Amino acid sequence: MGMFDTVIFEKPILCKCGQKIESTQIKEFECMMDTYHVGDMIPSAPMFALFEEWDYCSNCKATIEFYVACSYSIYLGVFSSYKEAKEAIDGFNMEKLLKFYAQRVPNQNRGMFH
Ligand SMILES: [Zn+2]
Repeated sequence: MGMFDTVIFEKPILCKCGQKIESTQIKEFECMMDTYHVGDMIPSAPMFALFEEWDYCSNCKATIEFYVACSYSIYLGVFSSYKEAKEAIDGFNMEKLLKFYAQRVPNQNRGMFH
């Protein structure tokens, strides 16, 4: 089996059988066996990336297709349509970047600047 990276979906994608798909393995980037959550920087990703990926449903074996979006090498998530992925890339800005960053600040440190 080859090397891959794992991307975690922000919201699970539902298969038509009802099975939730919450992550997938991609081979698009450096494949360092890393796991990326939405908002993570993928060092080997290009500035902008939008590509189709697919996976099998673990329950019914149906093929699930989706689109992976990156902007400024930051993994923005997986979307069920090209249009949604493109909108995520087009709508990405400093405010959204800061929001990703803020989510990473441990809770106990929140409020220390107030
Ligand atoms: Zn299924």
